[in-house]
Amino acid sequence: MLRTHTCGELKLGDAGKQVTLAGWVQRTRDKGSVLWIDLRDRYGITQLIFEEGKTEKSLVDNARSVGREYVIQVEGTVVERLSKNDKMATGDIEIKVSALHVLNAAKLPPFTIEDDTDGGDELRMKYRYLDLRRNPVRESLQLRHKMAQQTRAYLDGQQFIEVETPVLIKSTPEGARDFVVPSRIHHGEFYALPQSPQTFKQLLMVSGFDRYYQIVKCFRDEDLRADRQPEFTQIDCEMAFITQEDILNTFEGLIRHLFKNVKGIDLPSVPRMRYDDAMALYGSDKPDTRFEMKFVEITSNTRGKNFPVFESAQLVVGINAKGCSEYSRKQLDELTEFVKRPQVGAKGLVYVQYRTDGTIKSSVDKFYSADDLKVWLEKFNAAPGDLLLILSGEEYQTRKQLNELRLLMGEKLGLRDKQKFSALWVMDFPLLEWNEETNRYHAMHHPFTSPKREDIALLDTDPGKVRANAYDMVINGTEVGGGSIRIHDRPTQQLMFTHLGFTEDEARKQFGFLMEAFEYGAPPHGGIAFGFDRLCSIFGGADSIRDFIAFPKNNAGRDVMIDTPSTISEEQLKELALKVPNPKA
Ligand code: ASP
Repeated sequence: MLRTHTCGELKLGDAGKQVTLAGWVQRTRDKGSVLWIDLRDRYGITQLIFEEGKTEKSLVDNARSVGREYVIQVEGTVVERLSKNDKMATGDIEIKVSALHVLNAAKLPPFTIEDDTDGGDELRMKYRYLDLRRNPVRESLQLRHKMAQQTRAYLDGQQFIEVETPVLIKSTPEGARDFVVPSRIHHGEFYALPQSPQTFKQLLMVSGFDRYYQIVKCFRDEDLRADRQPEFTQIDCEMAFITQEDILNTFEGLIRHLFKNVKGIDLPSVPRMRYDDAMALYGSDKPDTRFEMKFVEITSNTRGKNFPVFESAQLVVGINAKGCSEYSRKQLDELTEFVKRPQVGAKGLVYVQYRTDGTIKSSVDKFYSADDLKVWLEKFNAAPGDLLLILSGEEYQTRKQLNELRLLMGEKLGLRDKQKFSALWVMDFPLLEWNEETNRYHAMHHPFTSPKREDIALLDTDPGKVRANAYDMVINGTEVGGGSIRIHDRPTQQLMFTHLGFTEDEARKQFGFLMEAFEYGAPPHGGIAFGFDRLCSIFGGADSIRDFIAFPKNNAGRDVMIDTPSTISEEQLKELALKVPNPKA
């Protein structure tokens, strides 16, 4: 080996030892008579010292000539430092160098290799291999490694078997758009990259594997959105001979195991909430439960006072922003502006200030007396010092708008601490979701999800009301995982496809293999998949998943380092029998 120790391990107890270290030059400090180099590797930084008069002149000159990010190897003696640095693991010692070899010179990096770099996003991505040298990014990937190890340890302990499923599969129209791969041997035919191993894991249940998992790459060709990656990783799981209760318990166990073993946090048992309640109380199927600020409906308490906006509204609903009664006119205007942004879409905002002196002031004083407003305040459980923020309109839209406002207020009030964690199961999702564009129902989760037995009759009369045996895990307002109990018999699966608008022939062409498998002894089964990148970013207390992926794509879906997507040669196109308009022509 080119080193006896790493740059992160030498302590005072090692003083006097002869050592060899290798790494990158983090920085050089030259005081004339003394010169220090900080030598860095993945484990830490060790200080090297060269002293004129005590160190050979040629060696000092050599040390002076190395630049940032040079790869060097040094031999020397561990000595106690004069001025110690208690912020560094190796801060008590330094290395009195007796030999220095440059293993490789380095060009000046295009941005500084520091925790707070001066490099912009695009530059960091172009030179991602340099970016990965920085502590925060390296630590994020180390966290990811630990998460993967602990996931395997837990699931292995629960008798799960890791099975790999194919990456070249068949394109199916349901769900997101597929990435496709043209076949050279079969012209005009295509593979698709899996959006998830869904059908394969179900087939493994038919095969009798009974507990499967895989930490697996999935691909979705979705429209670009901030912080979406076209390829991402799932912890994909399936179990047979289980009830929904077993799945919830098993995977609550996984999440708690991860919190315990990766972060040292004892997560309390995960509460459960029905989808309908989540929508009513938070206006979201992924509520951030780190803070309360639940919705309060006051529709009936607003009627009959000739305030046209409320009079015509299907729903009048609000939140209580505790301690915000003294917000200035400007602050209240900002909130109004916020809800009126096209991304939120509200027409306006009504507020009631329950001032600290006990008086009440509202933006609808013209229509409502202090006594009227007192009734509202009571419904909100408000105390002097509180501020009611109220929206109105069509039910679903208004709830969604108020959700945005609630999250903003949570942020403003410091209630969304990234080091605090609140997990939640959301369950009993609707089975189907009406799609305005296609003018038909789509599966809310996917077409293999089973309807609740007691709701099956509604499929014919009121399909939108049918509930599914489907569940999501939400942490801090982000959906980190979702799954369902599956259909496992042919007639029900066929019925489901019919309701989704498939002809019998289409269903057979696309999913015939699965329905046929259901006729050869399919056990009851269900499962879940967690978004692994997202889970890692939440554990890391970060907003973006990007730094938890070694080589991510940018927001335009490009890898700017290897420069892809890119064109392919005429010859390749010909082999694949593809005709592509020349983008440069
Ligand atoms: N395959 C599903 C998904 O990717 C998860 C599941 O139902 O297990 O969302």
